[in-house]
Amino acid sequence: MSHLFSTYLRWEIEPIEAWGSYLKSKDGTQYLDFTSGIGVCNLGHKPPSVKKAVEKQLNQFWHVSNLYESSSQELAALKLANASGLDYVFFSNSGAEANEAAIKLARKATGKSKVITFHQSFHGRTFAAMSATGQEKIKEGYGPLLDTFIHAPFNDLEYISSIMDYSIAAVMIEVVQGEGGVYVGTQDFLKGVERLCKQYGALLIIDEIQTGIGRTGENFAYQHFQINPDIVTVAKGLASGFPIGAVIGKSHLASVFGPGSHGSTFGGNPISIAAAIATMDEVFKRDFLQIVKEKGAYLIGNLQRDLSQTSLVRDVRGMGMIIGIELNHKAQAYIKELQNYNLLVLPAGEKVIRLLPPLTASKEEMDQAVSRITHILSAIEIGERHPIQPY
Ligand SMILES: *Cc1c(COP(=O)(O)O)cnc(C)c1O
Repeated sequence: MSHLFSTYLRWEIEPIEAWGSYLKSKDGTQYLDFTSGIGVCNLGHKPPSVKKAVEKQLNQFWHVSNLYESSSQELAALKLANASGLDYVFFSNSGAEANEAAIKLARKATGKSKVITFHQSFHGRTFAAMSATGQEKIKEGYGPLLDTFIHAPFNDLEYISSIMDYSIAAVMIEVVQGEGGVYVGTQDFLKGVERLCKQYGALLIIDEIQTGIGRTGENFAYQHFQINPDIVTVAKGLASGFPIGAVIGKSHLASVFGPGSHGSTFGGNPISIAAAIATMDEVFKRDFLQIVKEKGAYLIGNLQRDLSQTSLVRDVRGMGMIIGIELNHKAQAYIKELQNYNLLVLPAGEKVIRLLPPLTASKEEMDQAVSRITHILSAIEIGERHPIQPY
């Protein structure tokens, strides 16, 4: 028997090695990995510059606590500040913890407690982050939750205008909803939310945990929309697979997180920080991000073209290298079938196949993925191959 709680519905694949865009399993199968460890390994598996930085830190020290000065945390914070246009950073170990810190920061700064979040959103599994999340299945059985979150429909400016008032501490939003189904925010909606926040003295918190660190072809996804958040949270892609999270805040919040107001034993640990600095050095470059944009447009364009005749497919959408293929059926069986064709992809919501390829994926790798996806989704549709039971 397994002694692990069965919180994860695990795939029947056990990785033994991974490099670049590939993952090899115990039975010797080599997979093209378009999951990047759920949007974490943005530079592919084991990028050499990150490996080198981590090895260097492994030889220096592993952990000393946050009682000491840290020029490497300072450098990592500077890079995040420069890349975001915000000012101050707190390092945590995960995305949920970064969002917890963001919520605490917003409450303390405004002296208010209500936070507006959105349907289908995902903000993490801890209590405040779970309460913030706009998906019932995440919260089932855990109530009562924090009752200070108000959930509004995504991309519906009229609705949020109707509920916004001076009692709101913050609006927390993913500009591209990841786990919920790869829904891209519209320019009008996001600009409108920013305007409402200004008007009512609410802080704008952008959850960039999945979309940050180059995923969409900008440092952070909100930069596509020319909006100015007060707080930004990041995690997944920040350290190429080492556990980390960060909350980045504007200068007007500096005094809110003073000595003793927040903390973490492991947050900003030296190994993860070394990995983060090396990762940011590669990702936060104009040329690199330009190529990510081009690759994303190429991949989305080819999927749209090749799947346009497939009635199983409702929509192909995304931004840069976060891409959703919405089906008319539950996605799970097709994801499993793609594994039989040595391609690893993710679900998002119930009916969406989500691609989070490494930002370093080559054109050939993207072409291979498109051809396998097209083969599976169209062949099953017309019943050419052994059919998957439609749900
Ligand atoms: C993954 C994710 C989180 C939670 O991050 P953890 O590290 O799993 O706690 C929060 N928000 C978004 C948008 C995410 O994609």
